[in-house]
Amino acid sequence: FDMFVLAFVERFFRPTFRKDDFVVGKKLGEGSFGVVYKVSLSKKRSNEEGEYVLKKATEYGAVEIWMNERVRRACGNSCADFVYGFLDKSSKKGPEYWLLWKYEGESTLAGLLQSKEFPYNVETIILGKVQDLPKGLERENKIIQTIMRQLLFALDGLHSTGIIHRDVKPQNIIFSEGSRSFKIIDLGAAADLRVGINYIPKEFLLDPRYAAPEQYIMSTQTPSAPSAPVAAALSPVLWQMNLPDRFDIYSIGLIFLQMAFPSLRSDSNLIQFNRQLKRCEYDLTAWRKLVEPRASGDLRRGFELLDLDGGIGWELLTSMVRYKARQRISAKAALAHPYFDRQGLLALSVMQ
Ligand code: ADP
Ligand code: MG
Repeated sequence: FDMFVLAFVERFFRPTFRKDDFVVGKKLGEGSFGVVYKVSLSKKRSNEEGEYVLKKATEYGAVEIWMNERVRRACGNSCADFVYGFLDKSSKKGPEYWLLWKYEGESTLAGLLQSKEFPYNVETIILGKVQDLPKGLERENKIIQTIMRQLLFALDGLHSTGIIHRDVKPQNIIFSEGSRSFKIIDLGAAADLRVGINYIPKEFLLDPRYAAPEQYIMSTQTPSAPSAPVAAALSPVLWQMNLPDRFDIYSIGLIFLQMAFPSLRSDSNLIQFNRQLKRCEYDLTAWRKLVEPRASGDLRRGFELLDLDGGIGWELLTSMVRYKARQRISAKAALAHPYFDRQGLLALSVMQ
């Protein structure tokens, strides 16, 4: 009953928007299904504040709005703050869905990873100040551990809601300046198994750089999504059987790998790594045996970082990046992994 009242109150009191409420600014991204802009409110709404992000999407926008509404209610902290979505029929290009989020900040994990300063640049934005401490592996490990914890926390929220993201990659992870933590964005390829929404049948959508080897999330014998009530009854079972959430875990594992090994941060080297791993039959330990003897200093340093504290980081990494989905750790179990036993970065507010 409470949930019903809340939903009712929310519907009536949340602000709504129309096309001419916005002044479109800089383009932030362009995918095959939409264009993303930074926008501000136009003069007629000048009494309201804030910066927003607008995605103008094609027909798939309808489901992306639905996913965002569901996430906002069920696990709002996992993803960027969704504000509003509507259909604009007036465009000459045909009907367009407009999706609006709060502008979370300018840093994606992809951008942060490309900087020579990584992971210290992340330490600075999380703590809100530069730490005057000697640099070294221990400190880097602590920062990476903090990022991993935030990512797994966000992912666990989605998975506990029944949503698989399917496109987890550094480009789809934004640093929220408001909460000083990473959030997941872009539910454009997400699937909700509990209500049977799994709308995009095309595996081409999956980013091959971060996709787990199984490619198909649910068994391909399911040609169309079952009706909602049937799916709701079946999907906990399907979820257990297929462990579709482990697809996202594989992607998070690759991000962990890229954070530990600077040389694997470029696209070309990640693609080369994927080829090597495939040749090793997706066995990270075999990959390590292959590359470590002739490893450069950079690669060796990555292994050293993961070997800290008795190799607990390496252990976590190898439990995420595995060929068989059912052998991969879940987001919830990963959060309880001993890798996270040690204290990570403490935000200033916590220390005071
Ligand atoms: P797509 O990948 O379909 O183009 P995304 O939803 O991933 O669309 O958004 C594209 C880019 O826009 C992101 O990589 C990010 O840089 C930026 N962006 C998206 N949402 C936000 C947000 N809430 N706050 C700040 N920047 C955002
Ligand atoms: Mg994206």
